[in-house]
Amino acid sequence: AERQAAADGKIYFSYAQIHAAVDNIVAPARAFNPDVIIAIGGGGFIPARMLRTELKIPILAIALELYDDNTNTRNTTVKKIQWFDETSGIGRNVRGRRVLVMDEVDDTRTTLKFAVEEIMMPTAPAAIAVAVVHNKLKPKDAELPPGITYIAGEEVPDRWNCYPWD
Ligand code: 5GP
Repeated sequence: AERQAAADGKIYFSYAQIHAAVDNIVAPARAFNPDVIIAIGGGGFIPARMLRTELKIPILAIALELYDDNTNTRNTTVKKIQWFDETSGIGRNVRGRRVLVMDEVDDTRTTLKFAVEEIMMPTAPAAIAVAVVHNKLKPKDAELPPGITYIAGEEVPDRWNCYPWD
C-alpha cells in the first residue's frame, strides 16, 4: 500500500513508522551478525541508534554529503564531512570484522556505494552489509560492489520523504 502524500507532494514519516521499518531490519541484521554499525549522518544516526537496542554493538559515525560540482541540477560527487579513526578505539574493530553500514534512505545509491568503497579500501572488513530504513523503488545511478548484503526496512515510491528528525 502506498502512503498518501501531503499537500506539498512529500511523504511525512512519524517516529512510530520509522521504528516499524527499523524493526524489519532486525532479523536480517542479526543473521548478518555484525561487529559494528557505521552510521551515515545525519539521517542514519537515529535509525542506527534504534537498531543498536536490538543488536547491542558499537556505532561509528561518519557524515557524507552529495554535492554539486557546478550545475545545480544533479548531485554526483560525494564529499567526506566526517570519518572515523581506523587506528584506535572502535575504529580498530573495522578491519577484518563484520560491518553494517546504515543510512535512512537509498535514493540513487551514490552515497552508499561511496561509503562502502571508502570503508573497503583502507580498512578491509571481513564482510559488509548495508541497511537502509527506506529503499526508493527507482533505477539507481550506482551499484554496490559484489558480495554486499543489502537490507531495506521498507520499499517506498520515488517521492521526497520527510523524516521526524529533520
Ligand atoms: P543517494 O546517494 O542514495 O542518492 O542519497 C542518499 C542521501 O540523500 C540520503 O542519505 C539523504 O540524506 C538524501 N536523501 C535522498 N532522498 C531523500 C528523501 O527523500 N528525504 C530526505 N530527507 N533525504 C533524502
